[in-house]
Amino acid sequence: MDVIVVMRSTATEADIDHVIGRITELGLTPNISKAEFRTLIGAVGQKSPETIQQLDQLRGVDRVIAVTQPYKLASREFHESDTILDIKGIRVGGPHVNIIAGPCAIEGREMLFEIGRLVKDAGASILRGGAFKPRSSPYAYQGMGKEGLELLKQASDELDMPTITEVTDPRDVEIVAEYADIFQIGARNMQNFNLLLEVGKTDKPVFIKRGLAASITELLMSAEYVLSQGNHRVILCERGMRTFNEETRFTLDVSAVPVVQERSHLPVFVDPSHAAGKRDLVPALALAAIAAGAAGLIIEVHSCPDKAMCDGPQAVLPARFTRLMEQIKQVAEIVDHRVTRWGTAAAQPRRAESGGWMS
Ligand code: PEP
Ligand code: MN
Repeated sequence: MDVIVVMRSTATEADIDHVIGRITELGLTPNISKAEFRTLIGAVGQKSPETIQQLDQLRGVDRVIAVTQPYKLASREFHESDTILDIKGIRVGGPHVNIIAGPCAIEGREMLFEIGRLVKDAGASILRGGAFKPRSSPYAYQGMGKEGLELLKQASDELDMPTITEVTDPRDVEIVAEYADIFQIGARNMQNFNLLLEVGKTDKPVFIKRGLAASITELLMSAEYVLSQGNHRVILCERGMRTFNEETRFTLDVSAVPVVQERSHLPVFVDPSHAAGKRDLVPALALAAIAAGAAGLIIEVHSCPDKAMCDGPQAVLPARFTRLMEQIKQVAEIVDHRVTRWGTAAAQPRRAESGGWMS
């Protein structure tokens, strides 16, 4: 069983160092989490009841909590306040709402730049585009690969926007890290543990999509794989799951947003595009997710979806996207969140921010 040592607000740096030293001496791995008023120290590894007693008696220790869930570093118990990531100057998580938008797949320079410009103008803060596409059919379009990554980097530089792209193979982690700002772990790879370990060894944010039939605990365990490697920059994403419903591509689990937020400090995004499968349904799901308190959305947008190589039917058209951004802004304000617009100073949080990981 793992434990969390909660330090008193009056604990000194020396007290904290001493506890960390004892945890290490006991053969356990310490993980430090600084909250606004106190420090929490996780001790991961097997330990006896005597160990808990010993830690409990150390100077500056308020109490020692045994963690019962299988995930530790991802849990709210370990990190009380919302984790807020800084991705090239934009803040993700807490009261900040960020909209990731762009095409499903990068199909060429012109379309990527055109869509990138229009989603940026509409207020999106992060550009999406797949270079490695995990398709259900081996005969379907598989993406542009390295050439697509190069285009994504050029678009990122020209538009001054951070980017996200999917990585499907542990062997591609290095090259994707070279060209993009956020790793996307696709729903089908949520439990590709070698891939999770590999991105966990980097310092780039990792955006993990919930598997088609994965429970919330399984999603949090996938986050734990990344966190356990020392990469604390994780974002979770609900993207719809497999049900008997045939009207939509998947069924969006809106309740995943508050449930994950209760259990974890990590930002939770929603993907209304893959859940809906049809562009007309995307705005309703997007607004429902923001109303539920999501930290952001990832939306597929295309200026010419009839010609899209991938997921054309669910791509929102530019004009509708622009209007949706306005609606998102209004709904976000109702739940006390603020939409971050890249390049503007709109990201003023209403709630106090605190905490953050110490590495
Ligand atoms: C995507 O974002 O284009 C994608 C393939 O998503 P998912 O992994 O959720 O199916
Ligand atoms: Mn897609």
